Amino acid sequence: MISSASPSDEGPRSPTDPPAEAPICSAKGCRAPAVWVLAWNNPKLHTPDRRKTWLACEEHREYLSNFLNMRGFLKDTVPLAEWESASDG
Ligand SMILES: [Zn+2]
Repeated sequence: MISSASPSDEGPRSPTDPPAEAPICSAKGCRAPAVWVLAWNNPKLHTPDRRKTWLACEEHREYLSNFLNMRGFLKDTVPLAEWESASDG
């Protein structure tokens, strides 16, 4: 595996390299810390037991869950703290 990190580069932060410590809301353009996990599944793309997750801040939880719910994708909305304590590792 090739890593091309450049630690002293002061350019814009790469979107593929988010800070590991603070999960950020998945809403487009939002930089607020996430407090909710939306677990969803697209039956056309995913097996039934597969879970994709979106992170949401308080402000975007309703927007994102409505977006998924309208499509019938939304499975669960869980507080981030609860989600993290439920998953080992
Ligand atoms: Zn947000």
